[in-house]
Amino acid sequence: MSSGPLRVLPLGGLGEIGKNMTVVEYEDRIVLVDVGLRFPTAEMMGIDLVLPDFAYLRGRVSDIEAIVVTHGHEDHLGCLPFLLRELGVHDAPPVYGGPLTMAMARSKLDEHKLSREVHVEDVNDGEIIEAGPFDLELIHMTHSIPDASAVAIKTDLGTILVTGDYKFDQTPVDGRPADVSRLAELGREGLLLLCGDSTNGDRPGFAPSERVAGPNLRDVFSRCTGRIIVTSFASNIHRVQQVVDAAAALGRKVVLVGRSMKKNTNIGRSLGHIKVPEGIIIGPREIAQFPDHKIVIISTGSQGEPLSALRRMAHKDHPQVELHAGDTVVFSATPIPGNERAVNETIDRLYHIGCDVITTKDAPIHASGHGYQEEIKLMLNLTKPRYVMPFHGDHKRIHLHGQLAEAVGVAPENIFKGENGLPLELDAKGARWGKKVQSGMIFVDGVDIGDVTDVALRDRRMLSADGIFVVVATISEQDGSSVAEPEVIFRGVPYASDADKLLDQLRDCVEKSLERAAKDEIREIDLLQEILHDDLAAFVYDKIKRRPMVLPVVVEV
Ligand SMILES: [Zn+2]
Ligand SMILES: [Zn+2]
Repeated sequence: MSSGPLRVLPLGGLGEIGKNMTVVEYEDRIVLVDVGLRFPTAEMMGIDLVLPDFAYLRGRVSDIEAIVVTHGHEDHLGCLPFLLRELGVHDAPPVYGGPLTMAMARSKLDEHKLSREVHVEDVNDGEIIEAGPFDLELIHMTHSIPDASAVAIKTDLGTILVTGDYKFDQTPVDGRPADVSRLAELGREGLLLLCGDSTNGDRPGFAPSERVAGPNLRDVFSRCTGRIIVTSFASNIHRVQQVVDAAAALGRKVVLVGRSMKKNTNIGRSLGHIKVPEGIIIGPREIAQFPDHKIVIISTGSQGEPLSALRRMAHKDHPQVELHAGDTVVFSATPIPGNERAVNETIDRLYHIGCDVITTKDAPIHASGHGYQEEIKLMLNLTKPRYVMPFHGDHKRIHLHGQLAEAVGVAPENIFKGENGLPLELDAKGARWGKKVQSGMIFVDGVDIGDVTDVALRDRRMLSADGIFVVVATISEQDGSSVAEPEVIFRGVPYASDADKLLDQLRDCVEKSLERAAKDEIREIDLLQEILHDDLAAFVYDKIKRRPMVLPVVVEV
């Protein structure tokens, strides 16, 4: 008998939708399933990305046998470069997933200049990966991105199935339905634990097939007389295909706008997931050469994201596409909970420009990638798990998933409704909760990521939202000590009542930072400015819960 229980520890994705990451641990060896991130909410001023807190993994990189990624969505893959950089790429574990997922992983690692250090391997369905005490197998599923998989993790204590995001699409656009027979086989072999997608646990019935979106898009397009701008998730490669098909059928040219739209479509084309008729795609600069009724623009921004192409078009701030009356903007996506306000704002601006707007409320031009209640039950019935631990949902949906499990006959005491940081422990005697570990959020305030335009835009956004502090510190050339009272200037800072007091405290904070730096014999101006920036930014955030730009200037005399 082996030492210790098998542990399933979610570090993200429970009690929230986003930043999925799960540690599966046995005999002190680890497999990570998914390494996702989340986008910040409106209150998280100046924050670019939110990562799961992976403190549990620090110092343990050599214990990780493998990282398996179920599919290429940001909430499952986006944290990969940050995680590897933080844990140390030196003996980074190999990364496994379907071919499209791994193409997206490579592209991310490339952007972070990590692709040389990390072994990334395409896995085909049915292949077994040996990883220490675990045998891993991917099982093909359908979702709103190709190459989505469930992951079966076999150990000598039993098999765990993490479904990833899925629906049972009977007529997927690429003709590859979920591998239902393999799921049933796992059920017959005896599944120990099912960790399943809860996203649509509140919706009765079955999700509509992705295929329904195509004819409806064509129908909507056929009624438009001007240009058509379609927005969807850039990773929804089948949707992009259906938009291209509808455009082709109506004799319109297609323009791709937005960095991730171009990137994902290129990856999709190179792997054969998107087939584009010869000559149909034109560049944004060629738009003017065609009459309005010959153009379809596919754009990012379906969630009203601040820097996305559509949002910039709506603000008349896009360098290549200027919207005008007569254009129709088609939202082929629904807002993720939390994004409704940004989406509504974008829509209102579009109306103001004179555009017509069509959303999923007007026509069935979107199909969710997550199975509804009957599909969650079907998964439970196929795999017949002994224990159930609902994943991928807020507490409400996790609760509803638990009810569905009970409805199909899983004993209530075998249903574990968990939370981030709480491990489930399984052994020959049964299953129980373990001791809670640190979990939470890590913020990325990404000045060091993205390209130059992103940074410039981010600065503008920061200035417009929270204003700026300029701090001028004068230090002695001899010993680095502060020789004059620091000057603090601010503009546009939405501010607490006690302005004078805050300025005094800020000056103190500057003095203290300089004192500490002098003691550590730090004299380099760049370094000093950096230290001041970090100290002051933290101080200001602490005081006014805002993130104005902080610009320290250090002068030596
Ligand atoms: Zn997801
Ligand atoms: Zn997904």
